[in-house]
Amino acid sequence: MMEQFTEALPKVELHAHLNGSLSEETIQRLISLDTKNTFTSAETVIAKGSKRTLKDCFDMFQIIQRLTADAESIKYATKAVINDFVADHVCYLELRSTPRGNSATGLTKRSYVEAVLEGIEECTKEHSDAIEVRFLLSIDRRLGIEEAEDTVNLAIEYKKSSKGRVVGVDFSGDPNARDGREYLEILKKAKQSGLRLALHMAEIRGLQRENIDLLSIPPDRIGHGTFLHEELPCEDIVRKRQIPLEICLTSNVKGGTVESFAEEHHHMHRWKNIGQPFVLCTDDKGVFSTTLSNEYRIAAAESGMTRQELFDLSKRCIDFIFASDDVKTRLRWKWDTWKEQHSSLFL
Ligand code: 5GP
Repeated sequence: MMEQFTEALPKVELHAHLNGSLSEETIQRLISLDTKNTFTSAETVIAKGSKRTLKDCFDMFQIIQRLTADAESIKYATKAVINDFVADHVCYLELRSTPRGNSATGLTKRSYVEAVLEGIEECTKEHSDAIEVRFLLSIDRRLGIEEAEDTVNLAIEYKKSSKGRVVGVDFSGDPNARDGREYLEILKKAKQSGLRLALHMAEIRGLQRENIDLLSIPPDRIGHGTFLHEELPCEDIVRKRQIPLEICLTSNVKGGTVESFAEEHHHMHRWKNIGQPFVLCTDDKGVFSTTLSNEYRIAAAESGMTRQELFDLSKRCIDFIFASDDVKTRLRWKWDTWKEQHSSLFL
């Protein structure tokens, strides 16, 4: 069955927001640890078959973020999310999260970053053969340029001091908030400092001007890019530069920006048909109640990809990771070994 194949397949996850990735069990555990009982129960998962608006999703993130308001819970959440990805046979993960402070708990942006890094360190020690994890610091576009500058400065510092764990910067947050062009200079600074850039783009229509400017940096990967193909100059730039797109099928449909997975609605098909590189990702596996295996299964069902094509797609993702060439070589060997050992699955 395809479900078993996609589950067993070794996978690379390149677009996973920490707080959106918390499973229901992890959320319950964090609620039980919340001794001040500040959390009144609220919806944090979009059930199978349900849809919400993008605004609903951003409201949910803010609810979940109240549960990760101190260093201990952030470290716990980081480890729980990595363990979930290990269970889904993800062998390389780039986790992203928005550093934030909280005066009530003494959390600072710096201690936020430290807590995520400690979680990664402890968890990957436990699973050293199973997974490698890197960290992207996220800029939330709702929060303005000063916050973004702090985040980029932290990313530059931790790129040097985190033993290669911090590899880049993510630009995300509600696309209706502010003009993305406000962040152009700080994103350029990040890139010039050797950080890799994964930028959310064109999640909604009408952002053509900011899209063109953001593409001029250029980003190393594009998050979603839902409506980029409708904007001719943008599509041309993305094609010429061969910038990979991070495609999050369930997220797009449940978040209400795309009507369905079908060819007439979902942009994955368009990019696939013209041979543009893309990677399948979960985005927020907790909120959208999905797994990376499930995303591969949906992609196969909607596009008719064979097992060999799914294997090639998951192996190709290695080309687009932000870690070093040594890591890429190791991962490619892992994929080839897995295929040799599972040749009967391809018959
Ligand atoms: P965190 O950064 O707190 O670990 O993860 C949640 C945050 O990720 C959200 O507040 C939001 O800024 C960002 N995020 C998660 N999913 C999406 C998405 O689909 N689109 C955009 N633009 N931002 C997202």
